[in-house]
Amino acid sequence: MTTVSRARFAGSYYDSSSCRYPDIPTLNSDLDIDVAIVGGGITGLSTALQLADRGISSAVFESETFAFGASGRSGGQLLVGFNESTADLSRLVGSQAADQLWQLSIDALALTRDYIGRYQIDCDLQRGALTLATHHPKQRQALIQNQRALEEKGIATQLLEGAALRDAIDSPQYSLGLMESTSGHLHPKNYCLGLARAALSRGVQLFDHSPIDHVQTGDSMRLTRGPHRIRAQRVVLAGNAYIGNLVPELARPILPVTSHIIATEPLTTPLIACQAACSDLAFLLHYFRMSNDGRLLLGGRPGVWGRNEAMSTHILHQRMCQLFPQLAQTAIDYSWGGKVAVTQPQMPDIRRLSPNLWAAQGYSGHGMALAGLAGQVIAGAVDGDNQAIALFERVRHQQFPTHPAIRSGLAQWGMLWYRIRELTGL
Ligand SMILES: Cc1cc2nc3c(=O)[nH]c(=O)nc-3n(C[C@H](O)[C@H](O)[C@H](O)COP(=O)(O)OP(=O)(O)OC[C@H]3O[C@@H](n4cnc5c(N)ncnc54)[C@H](O)[C@@H]3O)c2cc1C
Repeated sequence: MTTVSRARFAGSYYDSSSCRYPDIPTLNSDLDIDVAIVGGGITGLSTALQLADRGISSAVFESETFAFGASGRSGGQLLVGFNESTADLSRLVGSQAADQLWQLSIDALALTRDYIGRYQIDCDLQRGALTLATHHPKQRQALIQNQRALEEKGIATQLLEGAALRDAIDSPQYSLGLMESTSGHLHPKNYCLGLARAALSRGVQLFDHSPIDHVQTGDSMRLTRGPHRIRAQRVVLAGNAYIGNLVPELARPILPVTSHIIATEPLTTPLIACQAACSDLAFLLHYFRMSNDGRLLLGGRPGVWGRNEAMSTHILHQRMCQLFPQLAQTAIDYSWGGKVAVTQPQMPDIRRLSPNLWAAQGYSGHGMALAGLAGQVIAGAVDGDNQAIALFERVRHQQFPTHPAIRSGLAQWGMLWYRIRELTGL
């Protein structure tokens, strides 16, 4: 029994290693603006930056502080593609649209790198992603299929096995790895705050601690934040898993699911020598990587059923010790969680809701790159260029019930069903 499965420090690793928070006011008067954006994560900020490139002025309203939501809590894995498989995506939208969507996911990575270079965002960007299979033949086969799918999309890959795999990652659990260097990882909070600073430098108005509590649609849109009125020509909703019931139509295609991350103390021996963003093919997948200061950051969903903070930390710690037995006595310094918006199918929900209202959400665990892209897609649509948004609007999303108890039950029973299928091979 280990004695180190509780976090030593409060808050997240990102909070303790983030850059200075920019000077941002709270909205305390009425405002007239061309485009009002609700949500201060990567989606909202990327939309504002893209609008600025098109000469359109905007203001971003954030309930808490910028990067408070998933963008400041994420595993930071910057991944190519979507959570939906390429074959299922083709079945969903046709092979031509599927190819175009895939190309957009590659463009999303280039856009992220462009933001980081152009606005000099210091966020520990690193190239490389390694997907891992255990010794189970089904997992090995799935990984080889993944490789074929990626190569068909023009992504160069390399299979690692035996000593080559051990040189890349020091874990006895895995027997095969698929490496590609289009993807990578970064410090998500510093990236998001870098976008906030960039937006300020481009003349975007940012307001924190300014929750929007009502959106009234019409020729001229009206939003309220407490006693203050905001009049906007157009509105973009970028609150994603944190938006609650602000616009009920947005709640139906997504299920907010909690994901949790632990960060160890800095390690003294190399664990992931290849420095890639790693993930595996387990049903409740693990994602992990090294931080810039040598910690292992390991995330996942602690179980099918919801867990409290202490239990989540304990379960993830146990899993970490299975994957890396050499860390059994390593302290956990930080532990935190956040909400991921998942859709069915696992594709983003990016669309126009009414003539002056757009929304982007539900990246299903691929939002680090796709949220930036969504900003570009929405800004294009706001400016009359509907080519890219039309591709996303082809995806038909399942509508979930809005009752909170039914929603949480659905997320859990859905996962349980997939778990049973995995265990029984159904
Ligand atoms: C623990 C965790 C790990 C993850 N790991 C990865 C990963 O490794 N790779 C990956 O690609 N993706 C990952 N994701 C998902 C990824 O972080 C998200 O898809 C992405 O950050 C979404 O960005 P966003 O701007 O759309 O939403 P958010 O970053 O959640 O921003 C939405 C913001 O809107 C604000 N808001 C909501 N309602 C209102 C309102 N009424 N008024 C004003 N503001 C409002 C919220 O406060 C919030 O700050 C992870 C998510 C979590 C939680």
